[in-house]
Amino acid sequence: MRYAENLSTCKVKTPDSPKSMERRSRKDRNKSDLCKTRQRYKNPLCVEEKIKYVLSYGGGVNSTALLFHLVNNKAPLDLVIFSDTGNELPETYETIKEIKVYCKNKDIDFVTVHFGYGLFDIVKPSLYAYCYARKLIPSRMFRWCSYKFKIRPIKKYLKTLGETIQYIGFASDESKRAKYKDNLYPLIAKNITRKGCIDIIKDEGFNIPVKSGCFICPYQTVKSWRDLYLNHKDLFDKAEFLENNCSNKKVVFALKPLRELKSGFGYNSNKIDDYIIPPCESGYCFT
Ligand code: SF4
Repeated sequence: MRYAENLSTCKVKTPDSPKSMERRSRKDRNKSDLCKTRQRYKNPLCVEEKIKYVLSYGGGVNSTALLFHLVNNKAPLDLVIFSDTGNELPETYETIKEIKVYCKNKDIDFVTVHFGYGLFDIVKPSLYAYCYARKLIPSRMFRWCSYKFKIRPIKKYLKTLGETIQYIGFASDESKRAKYKDNLYPLIAKNITRKGCIDIIKDEGFNIPVKSGCFICPYQTVKSWRDLYLNHKDLFDKAEFLENNCSNKKVVFALKPLRELKSGFGYNSNKIDDYIIPPCESGYCFT
């Protein structure tokens, strides 16, 4: 538990930092879930209490590095969970295959969950199929896709395990995204940047994963759309088809419709007008 003890004393700038907790009254402190989480973390008996430590895995650089970091530091880790929208890039599915083998070798359970509905959740459509049937596309504004296809399936599964604590792989250079007080953010706590994550993966001898996320993700930059067009034209065409199928013609994936966007994607053109999109902050999509 040495790793966990150190983690709990690191200064992580979350809304409930240890300093602000100190300022709370004893009564409030007892009510605080975060405090309870940290007390458990400090309590070496937590393993006996059967609290499960779970890594929310996305198949990208940060969560892969976090997995290696946790294992190498002998941090408590019972389960790696991945919520599959059915629309990740082929490279991400390759990474997941490798990580499953890694987890098996380390005796860590790896579980894949899906969005489902119907009696006993029998129907498990991909996000694409869900959108196509309803003539819509994922929305940056409402983030329903992240909730339905990432957060809810994971939470539903974790409920069956009893008490759990989740690790989320935000690097220290994106600490502003760490908004959910009940989660643990070891990369931030240990001041590991995105570059540090890449180093961890290289040291482990793994290939650097591509950026994870659905190929129909509205959080993609123009550059990501261009990469998709150049490397996976079939998937780009599918995304364009979905956009054209959308009943609300004002809703598009990027700043303009994909059919217009792609006209600037010459094979030799490295000069594209990109824009910054604030990332999805749910912590489950890793976009
Ligand atoms: S990766 Fe993007 S499209 Fe996929 S669920 Fe998350 S926000 Fe939605």
